[in-house]
Amino acid sequence: MAATKLTDIMKERQTLSFELYPPKTEKGMLKLPDIIAHLCDFQPDYISCTYGAGGGNVGANRQVCQMVRNAGSVPVTHFTVIKNTKSKMKEQMDMYLEEGVDHILALRGDIPLGETTTCGDFQYATDLVKYIKDTYGDKFEIAVAGSPEGHITCSSIESDIGFLRQKQDNGADYIMTQLCWDMEQFKRWLDMIRKAGVTLPINVGIMPVLDMKATINVALSRNGCVIERELARLISKYWIFPDPFDSNPPFRDDERERKLADFRKAGIEYTIKQIEAYRACGINGIHLYAMNKWEAVTEIIHATGLNAQI
Ligand code: FAD
Repeated sequence: MAATKLTDIMKERQTLSFELYPPKTEKGMLKLPDIIAHLCDFQPDYISCTYGAGGGNVGANRQVCQMVRNAGSVPVTHFTVIKNTKSKMKEQMDMYLEEGVDHILALRGDIPLGETTTCGDFQYATDLVKYIKDTYGDKFEIAVAGSPEGHITCSSIESDIGFLRQKQDNGADYIMTQLCWDMEQFKRWLDMIRKAGVTLPINVGIMPVLDMKATINVALSRNGCVIERELARLISKYWIFPDPFDSNPPFRDDERERKLADFRKAGIEYTIKQIEAYRACGINGIHLYAMNKWEAVTEIIHATGLNAQI
């Protein structure tokens, strides 16, 4: 059994967790222990680390997981089936267990550009959950993704929820959600999944709103998430002309720097309100996509009292 059972903690109180990604450069890797140390000041219940589709960054991902362990927190590795054969997956999972990483977020991953399949032995996260359970029993505690707005490629939200139920039936332990700024949709989804018999605890994924480009990018480049009215209003208010993606100085908007700073400030206030609204929905944990930025996370946590367990 996983050494720390996160779902036991979720029965007692709402958890707090962060998400990191393995930096691409050596310099970035060297800075990470300090970032993790700052995040650990808030005693997160776990820190998850993303996994590059195809397993290209698995070495760096394993290093990050060890940094998290060394800092005294619980690492959760993300894992995808993209370009992964069963034998490669087993090799990697054996390695994670040997290194004391017994928490996994079982994902399909995004289909590689130009392909129509995962180019691996499994096509869906449901298959991966079943494989982990059949191969390792309870050795891993298994998280799965949930999409409150429906996954971008799903044929209907009902079918997507049906597959979420299948992940539960195959042995998943809890859900981490895709970002969702549309609170009314989240509440509808929560109601729908419970009616469909999905009883798993839910950790809500929150993407802090800090940077206009990144906010638009993460919503639209892959996920097709709704940018709800209040967030759209903020984006318009601080819009950088001619467009926020214009990265060639000299910039035409004289107020660029002020707008960047004001958007960040307003975005943090917006994120704080979102977290408060989510916590009031009876969810089981807040999972902050910290994106290796501890300063903004610190502001958010201080304002929301999220580290109440300290
Ligand atoms: P699935 O649950 O398999 O769903 C994919 C699509 O197939 C959906 O439309 C679903 O309705 C449909 N479907 C599901 N099961 C079946 C079935 N059995 N038969 C037919 N259709 C089915 N990506 C990365 O590459 N690396 C990461 O580290 C990473 N971290 C993430 C962290 C979180 C918290 C979240 C929410 C997502 C993350 N992603 C990551 C993105 C994720 O890999 C993509 O959203 C991917 O496109 C779908 O993964 P999934 O596990 O939700 O897929």
